[in-house]
Amino acid sequence: MSTAPTSIAIVGGGLGGLTLARVLHTHGIASTVYERDASPTTRDQGGTLDLDEDSGRRALSAGGLLDDFRELSRPEGGELILLAKDGSTLLHEPAPEGGGDRPEIDRYALRGLLLDSLPRGTVRWGHKVRSATVSPAGRPALTLADGETVEADLLVGADGAWSRIRPLLSDARPVYSGVTLMDGQLEDVGTRHRALAELVGHGTMFALGDEKGVIAQRIGGDRIRVYSTVKVPEAWADTEAVATKRVLDLFPDWDDGLRALIADSDGPLVPRPIYALPVGHRWERVPGVTLLGDAAHLMSPFAGAGANLAMLDGAELARAIATHDDVETALTAYETALFPRSATEAALSAAHLDEFLRPDGLRLARDRFTSYASGDDAR
Ligand SMILES: Cc1cc2nc3c(=O)[nH]c(=O)nc-3n(C[C@H](O)[C@H](O)[C@H](O)COP(=O)(O)OP(=O)(O)OC[C@H]3O[C@@H](n4cnc5c(N)ncnc54)[C@H](O)[C@@H]3O)c2cc1C
Repeated sequence: MSTAPTSIAIVGGGLGGLTLARVLHTHGIASTVYERDASPTTRDQGGTLDLDEDSGRRALSAGGLLDDFRELSRPEGGELILLAKDGSTLLHEPAPEGGGDRPEIDRYALRGLLLDSLPRGTVRWGHKVRSATVSPAGRPALTLADGETVEADLLVGADGAWSRIRPLLSDARPVYSGVTLMDGQLEDVGTRHRALAELVGHGTMFALGDEKGVIAQRIGGDRIRVYSTVKVPEAWADTEAVATKRVLDLFPDWDDGLRALIADSDGPLVPRPIYALPVGHRWERVPGVTLLGDAAHLMSPFAGAGANLAMLDGAELARAIATHDDVETALTAYETALFPRSATEAALSAAHLDEFLRPDGLRLARDRFTSYASGDDAR
């Protein structure tokens, strides 16, 4: 790179923002990540992710982290089970040898890998951004929650669904999809929940029916993550933790084992309402500002694309910055590829959400998974 921006501010230390910082670092370019969480362990990082060769793993490769990823990944996590609501099995695909196309990794391990790869001090923990502006001279600036202001040559919004940077570029707001995941977790399943561990297997188990689902993932630390998936009004699961019984009542005639995955959760079920930005969300160029990941293209998780794309965005933006002479040319190149790529995945994610939770969702999911297992990428 001939003329590196002198200061790059990345808002958000999720998988996208950290990948950007890491790949910039491999090109010898410094950046600062402003992250609202007080520390890496402030918030539970969620379940497991399968990383696609063309997106998540390509991004790790750009950051020189592919070998470390292989050490941390769980090849057995590729096992896939599809059940009907009475517990009968429609599909059981064992994990492909070596993890196949999309090996699984726990989110906390992946975020830890990225964090450990950055120079000390790159991430400023406990730095919540309240707002962002662009000065009349065309220079972006952040105002932090404590009132401090920070100017930068390049500002990247990697701050997820409710981005504070997005309003600089677009009026778009995430819209509720009509679907909420009730997030629960079972601990010590090898000893305390052996029958449920067998039901879920070593990877992901989908049970679908009645326009609902119980989706369970085996994750590291001998745990199972369970997402009870329901179509409810946006306000049904408000900020209060929802009583387990209220969720169970939505699955009255489901198999006892599937109900136990909900009922036996350690701790309260946490509502995760699914929001999405409009498919094809884009913006006009604003000097010195761009977005990546969920801030740019929030989509339902039903195609397993969001984290993979956030990482690819980060790697591609870093590459553009490193290989272009000025920031604006780099941002134009990055966004020219970003918009169609994310529109395609957002449309697929919306289609999966719709299909899996239709009355005939079980059959549609079986068709999708069968073609995926046979080698077609039918995520
Ligand atoms: C239940 C569920 C399951 C999913 N499963 C998958 C899957 O299997 N595969 C897949 O690819 N994707 C999956 N996704 C999607 C994936 O989680 C997201 O797309 C991905 O995390 C987006 O990464 P990001 O870095 O853009 O944003 P985030 O992960 O949201 O990170 C944003 C960061 O910004 C910080 N932040 C926010 N606001 C501020 C602020 N004002 N100031 C400073 N910091 C701020 C946050 O604390 C956070 O650390 C799933 C999502 C959900 C909800």
